[in-house]
Amino acid sequence: MPSGDILPYGRQWIDDDDIAAVVECLRGDWLTQGPATEAFERDLTQTIKTDHAVAVSSGTAALHLAALSLGIGPGDVALVPTITFVATANCIRYCGGEVEFVDVDADTGLIDLTDLERKSQALADQGRPPRVILPVDFAGQPAPLPEIRAIANRHGAAVIHDAAHSLGATYTVDGNTHPSADCAHADCAILSFHPVKHIALGEGGAIVTNSNTLAAKLRELRTHGIHRDPARFSHCNPGPWHYEQDSLGYNYRITDIQCALGGSQLRKLDSFIARRREIAAQYDAAFADERLSKFIAPLVTRPNVDHSYHLYVVRVGKDRSLIESAELRRHLYDHLREQGIHSQVHYIPVHTQPYYASTKSNQARFPQSEAYYDGCLSLPMYPKMNDGDVSRVIDSVSHWVDEQMS
Ligand SMILES: *Cc1c(COP(=O)(O)O)cnc(C)c1O
Repeated sequence: MPSGDILPYGRQWIDDDDIAAVVECLRGDWLTQGPATEAFERDLTQTIKTDHAVAVSSGTAALHLAALSLGIGPGDVALVPTITFVATANCIRYCGGEVEFVDVDADTGLIDLTDLERKSQALADQGRPPRVILPVDFAGQPAPLPEIRAIANRHGAAVIHDAAHSLGATYTVDGNTHPSADCAHADCAILSFHPVKHIALGEGGAIVTNSNTLAAKLRELRTHGIHRDPARFSHCNPGPWHYEQDSLGYNYRITDIQCALGGSQLRKLDSFIARRREIAAQYDAAFADERLSKFIAPLVTRPNVDHSYHLYVVRVGKDRSLIESAELRRHLYDHLREQGIHSQVHYIPVHTQPYYASTKSNQARFPQSEAYYDGCLSLPMYPKMNDGDVSRVIDSVSHWVDEQMS
């Protein structure tokens, strides 16, 4: 029988001040995109240190508009790590482009630079160099962005940084510390505000960029491709009601109700991240134990990054065969579940999804991603977990290890 409440792998933290912010919005004049959205976008640019933030209805909509605004279309190829959420790849398909997957480093879950360079060069040799690379800050750890940008530059590719996991993380290059998603090494970055991510808006996302041109395109594409700039009208201006649609956009607006919540949540980001780091330190200390480390290996954190722990991922039976590791992972998953601890697997390699698996280039082997996938497990990680909850997870893992050793 589960002892105590169910511990999910992630969840939001909503307090009375968040509720008050939403209620205040509901009593006001604006419900859809309005002043609260503008204020939230300003807060985002200050947190992330970008010139622009464009808030939209989801992280997936943010990816779609990012790809559209960069002009991705039929004939274009994108390189995407195979360990990610399907949305990172799907945004390219929405635009008619093709996706080639890249292996990840099994120790970090981040895009593997050797495979990235190899696949970029192979595409270039075929006369169709990659148009865009989409690095993912898997679990909340920044990907090696300067190296990825250098590869992209060599092949004339754009970079859309999927920072859905890494709001609040930083990375340091040549003594300069960059907030994740600051676009120092990307054309634009995307964020998600789904409740399991760092701040919860119900649904929501944003594109951040330092490019005035991209930001203007993104704002138009968010609202049907419509603009009201008389200087650009192709018809003579018949009156103040006039607007023109220049491109095929969408209704990807977010609401002021969501952004009121977003502003309130963003004010607590630092404390949320601090708590996530404390929990990670407790897990790290426990799993460094000689006995536990025979079965459980946390993902490796690269030097010069400050992780924001969207997920806390361990690899189960890392040094064993794939089959053995997969069996142990399943066994641990079931053991935790019986105790009311809901772990999760992030992610099923996207190249194996039936939608993508039929493409010839995606039938290649991805040895590191397969090794990673067979043993990975995300343990509960969210700021509202108390020390007792963390101990409960550690004790349960420890009991399971005892069972394996007896
Ligand atoms: C959550 C997520 C998205 C999509 O975000 P939604 O807001 O759920 O649409 C994109 N990429 C990654 C890596 C994610 O984890």
